[in-house]
Amino acid sequence: MRAVVTEGVGAMAVTDRPDPPSPGPGEVLVAPDATGICGSDYHFFTGELSDEAGGSQFPRVQGHEVSGTIAELGPGCRPELATGQRVALWPLHACGECYPCSVGRFNTCDNFQLIGIHVDGGLQERLIMREDHVFPISSEDPAVASMAEPVSIAVRAVERARIAAGERVVVLGAGPIGQCVGLIAIERGAEVLLVDLQESRLALGRELGAETLAWTTADEVVAGARRWAGPAGPPVAVDATGVPAAVRAMIDMVASAGRAVQVGMSVDEVPIRIGSLTEKELDFLGVCCCGTGEFAGAVEVVERNGPALARMISHQFPLAEAPEALRFAMDNPSDVMKVVIRGD
Ligand SMILES: [Zn+2]
Ligand SMILES: [Zn+2]
Repeated sequence: MRAVVTEGVGAMAVTDRPDPPSPGPGEVLVAPDATGICGSDYHFFTGELSDEAGGSQFPRVQGHEVSGTIAELGPGCRPELATGQRVALWPLHACGECYPCSVGRFNTCDNFQLIGIHVDGGLQERLIMREDHVFPISSEDPAVASMAEPVSIAVRAVERARIAAGERVVVLGAGPIGQCVGLIAIERGAEVLLVDLQESRLALGRELGAETLAWTTADEVVAGARRWAGPAGPPVAVDATGVPAAVRAMIDMVASAGRAVQVGMSVDEVPIRIGSLTEKELDFLGVCCCGTGEFAGAVEVVERNGPALARMISHQFPLAEAPEALRFAMDNPSDVMKVVIRGD
């Protein structure tokens, strides 16, 4: 079978590998049909993934945003799984033994393994997964089905933020994750103000039901968010950029007793006024991947919002052009929303 292997820093090649064996008990052989590329893939490829995130270990088949077709079922899989079915893959393996696992927070497991990062992922023609990581999804378009993973991060963020109907929510960053946070918050009956540097991303956000504000400076954006949400500030703000100035703006704008939710990843540091946490008694909440229930919720979001999610997929490439696709995505950040690599 063909497998796209990241062999070292900046080196990705389309190679031949032996087919995996037949799936064992509780395992599923999946043929990936579409794999989305995201910022963490760039960091892995350039060897910049932080040590806390497991570092970049080569060689590796990348790809953690995967939809596919069930090629073969091992014995003992749950009865709703069937050969030929379209599925989305929950990419996270937890140890079940550590403190976060003991309190049900498997998504922050100390020994957390993500397909495409710590074990091989979607950029290959066959992949064995444990059956509890395989979720049937009705989306006809495999590229849309592969959006279940980024949507699942947004589901987690909206859960952490406890976003309720009628609330005003500011989302910093209108890339795929920020757009998905907006989409799910609007589904819940919230009102959303999306903030980004790029007008094309804001235009898409407006089409999906958000109001928008162009990023200028942190102070101006805080003032703009307060004009929109009221002088006390928005009760919820979400940063989907990881850029220090945006994180700072999020903490500054959010209302006292509000929730500030960090989704964008970064190794940068940001100075914040300690009083923001005490005087305002903020909930400052981090988000890491998602749990199995949230992944199931994400599958339903994808099934309900196929056309909106399709709008976020800006480019598609065949598997044989995966190395070019990754380079294209990294070299053209202002043109690229979501790059998806097809399994064909
Ligand atoms: Zn991702
Ligand atoms: Zn664990």
